[in-house]
Amino acid sequence: MRRLPSSVCSPSSHHLNPITSMSTGSNSLVWFRKSLRVHDNPALEHASKCSGSMYPVFVIDPHYMEPNQSSFSPGSSRAGVNRIRFLLESLSDLDSSLKKLGSRLLVLKGEPSDVILRCLQEWKVKRLCFEYDTDPYYQALDFKVKEYASSVGVEVFSPVSHTLFNPTEIIDKNGGKAPLSYQSFLKIAGEPSCADSELVMSYSSLPPVGDVGSLGVSEVPTLQELGYRDDEQDEWTPFRGGESEALKRLRKSISDKAWVANFEKPKGDPSAFLKPATTVLSPYLKKFGCLSSRYFYQCLQRVYKDVKKHTSPPVSLLGQLLWREFFYTTAFGTRNFDKMKGNPICKQIPWKEDHDMLAAWRDGKTGYPWIDAIMVQLLKWGWMHHLARHCVACFLTRGDLFIHWEQGRDVFERLLIDSDWAINNGNWVWLSCSSFFYQALSPITYHMDLFFVSKVYLFICLHFLRRCFFGGGIQYNRIYSPISFGKKYDPDGKYIKHFLPVLKDMPKQYIYEPWTAPLSVQTKAKCIVGKDYPKPMVMHDEASKECKRKMGEAYALNKKMNGNIGDEDLRDLRRKLENDEESNIRNQRPKLN
Ligand code: FAD
Repeated sequence: MRRLPSSVCSPSSHHLNPITSMSTGSNSLVWFRKSLRVHDNPALEHASKCSGSMYPVFVIDPHYMEPNQSSFSPGSSRAGVNRIRFLLESLSDLDSSLKKLGSRLLVLKGEPSDVILRCLQEWKVKRLCFEYDTDPYYQALDFKVKEYASSVGVEVFSPVSHTLFNPTEIIDKNGGKAPLSYQSFLKIAGEPSCADSELVMSYSSLPPVGDVGSLGVSEVPTLQELGYRDDEQDEWTPFRGGESEALKRLRKSISDKAWVANFEKPKGDPSAFLKPATTVLSPYLKKFGCLSSRYFYQCLQRVYKDVKKHTSPPVSLLGQLLWREFFYTTAFGTRNFDKMKGNPICKQIPWKEDHDMLAAWRDGKTGYPWIDAIMVQLLKWGWMHHLARHCVACFLTRGDLFIHWEQGRDVFERLLIDSDWAINNGNWVWLSCSSFFYQALSPITYHMDLFFVSKVYLFICLHFLRRCFFGGGIQYNRIYSPISFGKKYDPDGKYIKHFLPVLKDMPKQYIYEPWTAPLSVQTKAKCIVGKDYPKPMVMHDEASKECKRKMGEAYALNKKMNGNIGDEDLRDLRRKLENDEESNIRNQRPKLN
């Protein structure tokens, strides 16, 4: 095994003395789910020790992987095809790394717990190793597998290695409750234990795979073998899956020490797509664990040591990694975290049900080019900049359409290549102003948390953000403008023109509001609004005013009832809000060209 000394993060120091793994003893099975990597993989490390044979397994759950024609986008019933391709690329990369070490990935198909139980029996496994997972899906699955394993005397090793901290320990330290603010999380968390530990980065060899018998083991399938066509998408995500790609991307990011040292979110251009303003490491860290967060952490610490001055959490790159930890811990410690109902930290808000509006938002047909371009980037690439996510989440929920955050969450969950249960839910709850603060909650308060480091800086930034992007009013109803926010970064509309080619000839003064262009201009640009590109589905000024009114009433009800709002209370409020809205709409018809 190759261990990672503290200096390994410097790009030149990756050649370390190998420690050969011992290859005697009983059979072990390493069950790959998220940690699709060789480096810093404690489950793999443990399985490889003292094993006669080691069975590295990945189970394809047909429900997750096989095409489903009735979904709104190409893919399975649970995932868009971009993410399925990313997963297959990650599996192939893992298989080829294992093959170089004398092993291979054994791919099996079926309900994962049934398959694993059969493997344990058939291969006479004595040690089962897999990464601990806090997602509810895995909690239920792992409970079943562990119960069986202990009943038949199989040793189970399930280390926490997806995150820097163990969420259970943080919650225990906080008196049994998940910390609900980033600052309190940081205080409780302190330094992660990986700060000074050596990580195993590679091996000189791995124990051989034993006889696989007749369990139907296969190689990693291709997309076509799973039933997808080559032309399933007209444009595929530019981000390729796998550990090799993840490490390449990480090294490229950290090799620019000045960039790492000066990284500051929420600065950075959400419209930069040819060279994104952030690392785009999320698909590798989150969904599939192609990159170890602990390795990323050590690399960042190494850079910070080498440079004189650098930004700090929460705005720094390290700060971003800690947001990930914060959401994992909160999600793990909160009942019904992925729902409004029954979620003790979520405000009860009478969101609207409107399938047509939801579909227009999802398909990039709202008539607001900035919003539509972001949604098309999601459909085509499965990844967008963080602030771009803010804009579309705000637009769907409390900004313009007043549609339930759970429905937006579902669309993201399906299409993002970095889709992650804890982080996606956490951010949707946040962006819809449904949780995390008992007081007013908005991107401003979010950024307040971000800027706690310096009070002066905080004041300047809040003032700047307020002036640039939001109108007046109290904080919880400050809203991202679907027109002026994007324009600030990309006045020429290059991002819009790339993702919405129908607007490529629209002059820049109309690119964010094409419905205001005279008909002669629309004709010349070969884009007639209402025919070639949709009219805006709502007028932002009026819609956002309506949303603010509704949020105000919902917040007041939450306060009055001290959070104990029943179905009937919510139904009554919804009815009242809808009646009020109807009369308001009658008085304020949109004025379109
Ligand atoms: P960088 O800025 O380079 O940050 C480095 C790493 O820090 C990221 O890879 C990620 O692991 C972590 N990170 C950064 N921002 C956040 C954040 N706000 N919360 C948690 N971790 C963070 N991220 C996901 O990984 N999966 C999701 O399903 C997801 N859903 C989101 C939904 C909404 C509505 C919003 C507003 C944000 C969501 N995010 C999600 C968070 C964030 O947008 C992405 O993590 C980030 O844009 C990824 O780009 P990056 O790797 O270049 O980030």
